[in-house]
Amino acid sequence: MENKKKDDNNSRRNFLKLGLLAGAGTVATGALIATGKNSGESGEKIKVLTTSGEVMEVDKNFLTLAPVGRVESHEGIPGRKFVMVIDLAKCKNARKCVEECQKGHNLPKDQEFMKVYLMQDSEKTAPYWFPKPCYHCDNPQCVSVCPVGATYKRSDGIVLIDNERCIGCKFCMTGCPYSTRVFSWKAEEAYESDQPYSPEKSVPGVEGTVSKCDFCPDLAREGKLPYCASACPMGVIYFGDIDEDVVTNGTETFKFSELIRDRSGYKYLDNLGTRPNVYYLPPVDRQFPFERGLDGLDEEVTKRFENTPYVKNLKNKETL
Ligand code: SF4
Ligand code: SF4
Repeated sequence: MENKKKDDNNSRRNFLKLGLLAGAGTVATGALIATGKNSGESGEKIKVLTTSGEVMEVDKNFLTLAPVGRVESHEGIPGRKFVMVIDLAKCKNARKCVEECQKGHNLPKDQEFMKVYLMQDSEKTAPYWFPKPCYHCDNPQCVSVCPVGATYKRSDGIVLIDNERCIGCKFCMTGCPYSTRVFSWKAEEAYESDQPYSPEKSVPGVEGTVSKCDFCPDLAREGKLPYCASACPMGVIYFGDIDEDVVTNGTETFKFSELIRDRSGYKYLDNLGTRPNVYYLPPVDRQFPFERGLDGLDEEVTKRFENTPYVKNLKNKETL
């Protein structure tokens, strides 16, 4: 909670909330803040309206796009309905999705919003890698069990957590059938930022609360892909808008409905009635031969896979 207090103080001391007057139509969804920090003046002045009604000119380099406030972060991005598609035929456990997500959300190493599992349906079938973010369900069990309304579903499909409201009771962790939520035993201290807390940004983390994959709504507001999707060297993760019927991994773009139809896309454990917004393309017709993806991993990570028949077999042959 110490972090939170520090952040609140920083917010009050360092920020001046501003409204745009004219000529800066590029910033449509966030709030502008004037910071005491800058990398030198640019010479370009922007007219802004302070909350007390004064007009002032501020150098462009003193302005930053702040995370959106509580109301917008509860409502979601108007006219959007986000969806993710994960192509299991292409994943080779490069773990770049995990790394970049952790960097982007300032997570400690043992706290993963994206988890990559090694799946093997039977001893006789081939193993495959299975990246698992939060599924942002349309019928989210986590939301129905939260006693204080700290976790909520938005109009754009994203399920978020307001960590300043969360009391850390962990009901949602128990309620989620996909185990996507993680408890922040210790918030990462290395994070330094002048930006005020927003549920859309997830940083800095709040100790003693629950967090999880948030579909990177702050990036979506800027028209960017989530960290995991842009970081994957194999182009495994597609992100897009289900109403616009389009998904992209940054290189290839598909009509969502055709991709799901042509590649037999499915939703994981959809029979639970949760109605997830993440689809999988089955690991058939692999675009790469199965790669072990086990080399160079931390022992802690390798341990997670030791009960898979494939890994047990490797161990027996002493090739691991
Ligand atoms: S841990 Fe937080 S988000 Fe989860 S149910 Fe409890 S109060 Fe709600
Ligand atoms: S969508 Fe964002 S939060 Fe979720 S796994 Fe990808 S990078 Fe992490």
